[in-house]
Amino acid sequence: MTRKEAAREIKRLSELLRRHEHEYYVLAAPTLSDREYDALYDQLASLERDFPDLRTPDSPTARVGSDLSSELPEVEHTIPVLSLDKAYAHEEIVAWARKIQGSSGAEVSFTVEEKIDGSSMVLYYEKGVLVRGVTRGNGLKGNDVTANVKTIRTIPLRLARAVSVAVRGEVFLPIDEFARINSSMEIPYANPRNLAAGTLRRVRSSDVAAVPLTIFAYEGFFTGGADPKSHVEVLSLLEELGLRVSTRIGLFSADGELGGKLSSLRERHPEWTFGDFDAMVRYLGAQRETRRALPYEIDGLVAKVNELDRRELLGYTGHHPRWAIAYKFEAPEGVTVVQGIDVQVGRTGRITPVARVRPVAVGGTTISNVTLHNQDYINMLDLAIGDSVAVSRRGDVIPAVERVIEKNDTNSTWRMPDRCPACESGLVVVGAHHFCPNRDCPAQVRGRLLFFVGRGQMDIENLGPETIDVLMERESLRAPADLYAFDYGKLAELPGFGEKKISLIRAGIEKSKAQPFRVVLQSLGLAELGQKVAELLVDSGYRSIDELLALADAGSVEALTVIPGIGEKTAQTVLEGLRRPDVREQIERLRAAGLSFVEEARGEAAGAEQIFKGQTWCVTGSFERFTPRELAMEEVKRRGGKVVASVSGKTTHLLAGEGGGSKLEKARAVGARIVSEEEFLLMLARAPEPKRED
Ligand SMILES: [Zn+2]
Repeated sequence: MTRKEAAREIKRLSELLRRHEHEYYVLAAPTLSDREYDALYDQLASLERDFPDLRTPDSPTARVGSDLSSELPEVEHTIPVLSLDKAYAHEEIVAWARKIQGSSGAEVSFTVEEKIDGSSMVLYYEKGVLVRGVTRGNGLKGNDVTANVKTIRTIPLRLARAVSVAVRGEVFLPIDEFARINSSMEIPYANPRNLAAGTLRRVRSSDVAAVPLTIFAYEGFFTGGADPKSHVEVLSLLEELGLRVSTRIGLFSADGELGGKLSSLRERHPEWTFGDFDAMVRYLGAQRETRRALPYEIDGLVAKVNELDRRELLGYTGHHPRWAIAYKFEAPEGVTVVQGIDVQVGRTGRITPVARVRPVAVGGTTISNVTLHNQDYINMLDLAIGDSVAVSRRGDVIPAVERVIEKNDTNSTWRMPDRCPACESGLVVVGAHHFCPNRDCPAQVRGRLLFFVGRGQMDIENLGPETIDVLMERESLRAPADLYAFDYGKLAELPGFGEKKISLIRAGIEKSKAQPFRVVLQSLGLAELGQKVAELLVDSGYRSIDELLALADAGSVEALTVIPGIGEKTAQTVLEGLRRPDVREQIERLRAAGLSFVEEARGEAAGAEQIFKGQTWCVTGSFERFTPRELAMEEVKRRGGKVVASVSGKTTHLLAGEGGGSKLEKARAVGARIVSEEEFLLMLARAPEPKRED
């Protein structure tokens, strides 16, 4: 293909993909199937690889993010990014509207929009292209998070028209996504807002791309290409340009008709609510009551003057626009004082600051400790010891500091200590977190031992924190393997260790040797190698530590990333962990102690002949006998084969059903054997699984 042809093709594919993304993510009405989309995407990505200089910064492939680190520089806002005046009763909102109407000659209308509880964002578009995404910051300056913002699929990288506009919006995470992501986090976030804000501040945009953030745009400041007269027009324009705008909007005026001007809007927006000021009172009250049923969190409503010329006349106070007001719903909160900030050292060395607060009752429970996550989080709150703070417990999750109500006398912000409180090592910063780099740090050693024996890992009964502390202090136990080499009889000399207790500990140690390989694997406590990843590895056919160690030595990241659910970062981190000499030593010592480092295939245990051993299978298309097609993959696994999600150089077989697409070509290219359903059934018939006794 010539360069010119490539340029034309890249343009065509980009436009197609962009249109589809808009249909899919914004309109929720896709016209392409996922498979068609993926095929177009792959074509574009491969053209861009061949002609890298033709890749545009707003290419749909830019969505996947990069691992480049950014320092989140500060930039000045070019539009007013003020906060809103607040009211806590809906009567105040209507009184505010009546007052503005009263002081105005012409009729004024008011929009009421949901105040999404997310992270406020300003998107700067120049001639239709997204040039900058900036957090609200202090209103004058915010953090440049452009790379992160580009991973949010509902934010167009290019608008439908070449207008220049600064768009304000709220970036947020839907409640169900929050629940899903938060449940797998080592330190769960208190609420979707904190997770959204925290994600936007991540240094690696690929981490951001993994979180399905979305946006509602709610304000546009046009500097070229459009001249709207009302807020309602602004919203329509934003929508036409490709931005996501909420459809839950109310429009009210004194007589509810605005001199007949509303009838066309009523037709265009049947989903909106229209009416007079009495209807506005009802609307505010109803919205407040029904907010729990929304798929996202809102913390209030915002009423705004609709007519932009009227807004100009009203202007601004020093802090707020006079043409808008927020109606805040109160969250269950308590006010207390930060009495101290403790620094905890986790088993990975991660330092977590925890605020000790004067105990306060919130939503039926008493809060006395509140995690502060990391220094960034504390900076965001501008928090210090002695500050008065609002703490909350939203839903049934862990308590959080919502905001500082009054600073302490010194008006300072708490700083992370330079040294580890447990071992005095100088702390290092990785991403948003501080770490103690000393793997022999007593706090980390203790954390690792407790993790290893804990529930969900080796689950060794009768080895609680007190016993671990004794073993560390008196007997210098350091590593999990030491637990298996120790002569527990020696404990009889110590107070509190009777014969019965010692025999129970011994029994627990013995019993742990029967834990399956997958449990042993995740008990090693390696980064990214938790329960889920351990299961994925073993179920994908990596049923012995030696296979994994060989992968680590070879650095075969791709062998792991083809497993559905394992991303590149996870694969790299896991293999790095398995290459560490201290980890190798632990593994060998634990193996010598009799722990399981091999797991039989499920089918092997049932007696199925391992005819697919050493083979790597991928599947494409649909089947007559295997619906869903995972059933076919189960048969492969039972007979000793590995199963992967995409074809790579390591793939030996492709099971191809009806309508297999690009995988077929790829399989041919890498020389994998292509197996039809019929042929596959014959293979299975040659190695039947014996009927179970039951
Ligand atoms: Zn330390």
